[in-house]
Amino acid sequence: MPEKRDYYEVLGVGKTASKDEIKTAYRNLAKKFHPDLNKDNPKLAEEKFKEISEAYEVLIDDDKRVRYDQYGHAGVESDFSKEGFTWHDFSHVSDLEDIFGHDIFSDFFGRGSIFRDFFGARKWRFEQPDERVKEVQVEISLEQAYRGISTEVAIPHVEKCKECNGEGTAKGTTPKICTYCKGSGSLQQEQLQGFGRIIKIGACPVCKGHRKVIEHPCPNCHGIGEIQKLDKINVKIPPGVDNGTMLRIMADRAEEKLKEDIYVIISVKPHPSFHRQGSDIYREKTVTVMQAALGSKVEIPTLDGNAIMKIPQGTQTDTLFRLRGSGMPKLKGHGYGDMYVRVIVRVPKDLTKRQRELLEEFEEIESKKD
Ligand SMILES: [Zn+2]
Ligand SMILES: [Zn+2]
Repeated sequence: MPEKRDYYEVLGVGKTASKDEIKTAYRNLAKKFHPDLNKDNPKLAEEKFKEISEAYEVLIDDDKRVRYDQYGHAGVESDFSKEGFTWHDFSHVSDLEDIFGHDIFSDFFGRGSIFRDFFGARKWRFEQPDERVKEVQVEISLEQAYRGISTEVAIPHVEKCKECNGEGTAKGTTPKICTYCKGSGSLQQEQLQGFGRIIKIGACPVCKGHRKVIEHPCPNCHGIGEIQKLDKINVKIPPGVDNGTMLRIMADRAEEKLKEDIYVIISVKPHPSFHRQGSDIYREKTVTVMQAALGSKVEIPTLDGNAIMKIPQGTQTDTLFRLRGSGMPKLKGHGYGDMYVRVIVRVPKDLTKRQRELLEEFEEIESKKD
């Protein structure tokens, strides 16, 4: 395995780059390395595309970026599959859709498109719009992820408009044949791409492929023929979930009336002082020079109340201590991760006269030691 490159370097942005800068960099590189646009060396393009997508996955996410900045690649390892970043770990597919349009998942890129294979596992989302499994995002705090919670989520659900019986037209009117595409629903476009040209067949922008246009839309559904409703159901989120954890709620097992299976996708808000890495938690603890030199017991907040941590005498700044079992509960398995505490030794400022005398005396003894 070649050495992993620095994510900032991969995207060609500075360490302090804003989210917009990161987005722009990714957008430009994604266009450059799209495998379907690099027919001469698709394998290399695919690797590049994956590399920039991994870097983007980390740098666009506040929590992952903080951990990456602090601990390097090791800080985000646990966010990815065992063998490293795979497309299953990529949670920004919608950004790719923004860049390439929905076409990216349609026949535009052809049946054999590498891109289709990337997201094969997500087929249900893009290729079966009528029977797709719904995704619902739920954002929770790290404390809630620690304990698990029961929360209400709103499931969007579409109902046929009763006013127009799903037709989308106002009473007494009928849709007209689209004049833009002459009722074919699609348009051919020729585009220059690199050295070649490609013929793109897309849906007609006016009728969106429906072949007909509604001139007098139904006032109840605004011509869509459907009404969006929200069903509220209770979802139990188990302890230990992490960013991107997907819970499938089966319709037949939900207590409330759920019409179809749904995926609840968890996002865990970054915590100001606890940084999570898999089931382990990292945090810092500031101690005084005296506590570090003499040794002491200090109180340290954990996700389960305060714990007492023993600082041995002679502890140096930046020493990492492990509190076994004080991390996150493990989702698929037993027990808890650990908490790592980085001790920061603070040098006192604003000494009083007496403190200064004592320190000077200390220094005098120290200098005569040898
Ligand atoms: Zn049309
Ligand atoms: Zn209607």
